[in-house]
Amino acid sequence: MIRKCLSCGAKNRVPPDRLHQGPTCGQCKASLGPLDHPVALAHERGFDEFVRGASLPVLVDFWAPWCGPCRIVGPELEKLAKKHAGKLVVAKLNTEDVPAVARRFQISSIPTMVLFRAGKEAQRLSGAMPANAIEAELGL
Ligand SMILES: [Zn+2]
Repeated sequence: MIRKCLSCGAKNRVPPDRLHQGPTCGQCKASLGPLDHPVALAHERGFDEFVRGASLPVLVDFWAPWCGPCRIVGPELEKLAKKHAGKLVVAKLNTEDVPAVARRFQISSIPTMVLFRAGKEAQRLSGAMPANAIEAELGL
């Protein structure tokens, strides 16, 4: 994952197993801060590396551009990413772009949100819901 430093603008590669550490910029040493926005996972291999390697729980939103309820849940997930930065990572997977992953997890309706802990599916939610309902369901 590439993260841009807010102090100097340098692009930093942050491996998923260091997500919990609040990494620093390789150029100016400023803290990059915890990840506070959803990450787009655009390839099957990238998905596997990210979800397996992540040192934090990862909530993956399986969505598609044509899906109306997905557009409703999108901003709710942005809220969660911000509020739980440093404790939870929110990721998005476009099921049109990466159908192989959607098939593997037998995603039959979208939006579906799957919580992964240590690379394994821990919980699954289907349908659009507000951020506080997602928090309640996942016990955040
Ligand atoms: Zn920097």
